[in-house]
Amino acid sequence: MMYDVVIIGGGQAGLSMGYHLKGSSLSYLILDNNKRIGDVWRNRYDSLVLFTPRSYSCLPGLPLEGDKSAFPTKNEIADYLELYVKTFELPIQLNTIVKRVSKEKNLFKIETHQSIIQAKTVVIATGAFQTPYIPSFSNQLSPNILQLHSSNYRSPSQLNEGAVLVVGGGNSGSQIAVELSKNHETFLSVGQKIRFLPMLVANRSIFWWFDKSGILNANRHSFIGGKIQNNPDPIFGYELKGKIQNREVKMKGRTADIKNDEIYFEDASSIRVKNIIWSTGFSSDFTWIDIKNLLDSKGRIIHDRGVTNIEGLYFLGLPWQHRRGSALLLGVGEDAEYLYDRILMNGS
Ligand SMILES: Cc1cc2nc3c(=O)[nH]c(=O)nc-3n(C[C@H](O)[C@H](O)[C@H](O)COP(=O)(O)OP(=O)(O)OC[C@H]3O[C@@H](n4cnc5c(N)ncnc54)[C@H](O)[C@@H]3O)c2cc1C
Repeated sequence: MMYDVVIIGGGQAGLSMGYHLKGSSLSYLILDNNKRIGDVWRNRYDSLVLFTPRSYSCLPGLPLEGDKSAFPTKNEIADYLELYVKTFELPIQLNTIVKRVSKEKNLFKIETHQSIIQAKTVVIATGAFQTPYIPSFSNQLSPNILQLHSSNYRSPSQLNEGAVLVVGGGNSGSQIAVELSKNHETFLSVGQKIRFLPMLVANRSIFWWFDKSGILNANRHSFIGGKIQNNPDPIFGYELKGKIQNREVKMKGRTADIKNDEIYFEDASSIRVKNIIWSTGFSSDFTWIDIKNLLDSKGRIIHDRGVTNIEGLYFLGLPWQHRRGSALLLGVGEDAEYLYDRILMNGS
């Protein structure tokens, strides 16, 4: 099989790319390893509510139904992505794991577990949250203590009775700590001070203000963009702040070590718990892309707005690919449009 363009990954990034390509005469196919469109969102924890309101949680060409200023659930987004594919009749092949991508002369060879596909252009849209990261000292914990990465956390019913430590104070760690504090003594370990921002300002979503003030559009090389990148992501909403103030969530510094099931923090204090949720983020894995000169010495992709040094090879959905919103629903469509223009210019 041979296509002008193959998109690897059928999440919001891959689908936005597909939406733009629909307007061209290029032949293309989206490959995804999941059973159902939207499964990445479906498989996230049950209580996940987005921090972006509906008006800032949709892709080009199709608004998200419902109150525009309210916040959608993860299943709503999963169903929306399914509707997106149906509405625009995007060509997608599910249940397909891409095991290797290589380039021979001017053609890419995409090896899946079923077949080999060739393409003139490849867009990698496999997501920023691929391989869960957990500190290596986690293997010191005895099996009596439940430990889960946040990507495997679904609901409080998975936990042992007793105290829980949530490690990592990003938006998912914060939401999980708030949820667990209802039935467990809850500790939250953070490496840096948490910065809280309101979800609404003067009755409008804070994303509306970010949009109007230019913050959403600040690119990664701009002064504002640089400042935002150098700071940890803020936590949207004040629920956790209230819980910290009334000690329903007890704060700890960075988790430093584990010895004999005692968890030590950077200030040398320690606790014992029955559960740990590692909300410690993800790392990327591009080892399956067998193409030289793609990565820098630190293993990062060398690119400019998703355009790599390898002719015909593009990335979409990288954090800060172009601006803050690049890995969010609100920004990926614009980056897809940029790549679409580049693909056409290259005459794929
Ligand atoms: C807890 C949490 C909360 C978030 N909240 C928000 C929010 O409020 N608002 C917002 O806009 N964003 C939010 N995000 C961020 C972002 O929108 C998502 O991470 C989004 O899923 C990224 O889309 P993507 O298409 O780039 O990648 P993904 O959704 O990860 O899609 C990539 C697809 O590629 C597939 N794939 C990967 N490797 C292969 C392979 N080798 N072969 C075949 N298929 C492959 C994957 O299975 C997946 O289906 C949140 C993220 C998390 C983790």
